[in-house]
Amino acid sequence: MAEKYYNFINGEWCEASTGETFENRNPANWDEVIGVFPKSSKEDVDKAVRAAREAYEEWRLVPAPKRGMIIKKVGDLLTERKEEIARLMTREMGKVLAETRGDVQEGIDTAYYAVSEARRLFGHTAPSELPNKMNISFRMPIGVAGIITPWNFPMAIPTWKIFPALVSGNTVVFKPASDTPATATKLVEILLEAGLPPKVINLVHGTGNQVGIPIVEHPDVDLISFTGSSAVGRIINSKAGKDLKRVSLELGGKNGQIVMPDARLDLALDGVLWGAFGTTGQRCTATSRLILHKDIHDKFVDMLAERVSQLRLGDGLKPDTDVGPVINEGAREKIHSYVEIGKKEGATLLIGGEPATDGELARGWFYKPTIFVDVKPGMRIEQEEIFGPVLSVIKVNDFDEAIKVINDTEYGLSSSIYTQDVNLAFRAMRDINAGITYINGPTIGAEAHMPFGGTKHTGNGHREGGWEVYDFYTETKVVYVDFSGRLQRAQIDVDYD
Ligand code: NAD
Repeated sequence: MAEKYYNFINGEWCEASTGETFENRNPANWDEVIGVFPKSSKEDVDKAVRAAREAYEEWRLVPAPKRGMIIKKVGDLLTERKEEIARLMTREMGKVLAETRGDVQEGIDTAYYAVSEARRLFGHTAPSELPNKMNISFRMPIGVAGIITPWNFPMAIPTWKIFPALVSGNTVVFKPASDTPATATKLVEILLEAGLPPKVINLVHGTGNQVGIPIVEHPDVDLISFTGSSAVGRIINSKAGKDLKRVSLELGGKNGQIVMPDARLDLALDGVLWGAFGTTGQRCTATSRLILHKDIHDKFVDMLAERVSQLRLGDGLKPDTDVGPVINEGAREKIHSYVEIGKKEGATLLIGGEPATDGELARGWFYKPTIFVDVKPGMRIEQEEIFGPVLSVIKVNDFDEAIKVINDTEYGLSSSIYTQDVNLAFRAMRDINAGITYINGPTIGAEAHMPFGGTKHTGNGHREGGWEVYDFYTETKVVYVDFSGRLQRAQIDVDYD
């Protein structure tokens, strides 16, 4: 019998008000049901928001360092249960065990960083233009945070949002992706075990339309933090905009890696293999474009094809698996449709290009690591996010053309250049239009204590991670203290002569 999971609303584990459920299955073996989850509706969201609103009035007054100590305990519990959660996550969404361990570790890192921020949350003091007067700014919590997350980092991304929201004094209504509800439930269990007052966190499982939209549209939800596709980000932004809500959007990517002729080709090769096929290409920062200088193009493509042909597909729990399945049937169909588009556009399929169905792979959503060469700038496979193990190789004549190609997409999340030339490296840091640039490293590998996010249609200017995310979860309050004992009018009673 599959395990039964619940919502957590108003301090209680409960079923959906609809009484309906949905199943979650292992993408490496769809015969395995991970669990049965409540298929919730607006009614459940309304209850969750009411509880979060009620809890806010007390939670906002708890000293931030005390809130931080609860998150410290969360970090400790995540550390204790890292292996158990990583195994559940691999069964739930397919990525290999080394990566799901890394995903939990990112949650742990985010927790311990949050503990340190809880003792900072700095405001400013500034001199007044008038005598016997002080100017101070404070960081205040905002209210109820609606948090909507994707499935590809089922622990890390919720922690990026929930920990700073809580440490800043907000309460939370959390809707995880319906492909990864079990990992999300573990996180909520741990928050409660660590001592978080129950109504401060509310977990509502279900679909984007039935749960996500009611959260976004609820008048008592003050801010929305969303990570997911640009298409859904646009819908959320327009709905939340009607109510002037604060919204943080972390969206898609079409990340490129440039390799110059002076690069260490062995390093560049390891980098692109990890960047393009780690997490089966399903990272917002995945390398989906490889931009090769003409002088090393042919040699590098040969090296790449040989290594890609050796990648082993399989269940991520098996130690010899390099590449796990994609998340579900729809994702595999989407990936394959892009392969067909690439062929029609005139790109040359070098390797892969079809589902992998041999032996044990037949009962999972596997897709062969795929490389297209002769890809021209502007082709759809070069412009649109495929979110799977498909790499497009583009040949360029020089550095300037490489920069033009890497910048020529609607996205601006991550980027990479391999070169030993310090001048080119610094020009790339300056001229690549992206939130993240790696020098001699792949496009993936963000660290939890640094700001994370992208330019252009990758988001709306906010950042997750590090110190910057705390700006999103707090409102600035400015206080003027006049101890002159008389009315002093700013701009009028100043005397600069
Ligand atoms: P998605 O946009 O389909 O779903 C994300 C979340 O939004 C899920 O919880 C989903 O149920 C919910 N949702 C769907 N439709 C909704 C709607 N109309 N209203 C409200 N909520 C809705 O994305 P996904 O398939 O889960 O994740 C993959 C996408 O996420 C990719 O585009 C990837 O690049 C992006 N991503 C971005 C980052 C980043 O930090 N920039 C990180 C990871 C993933």
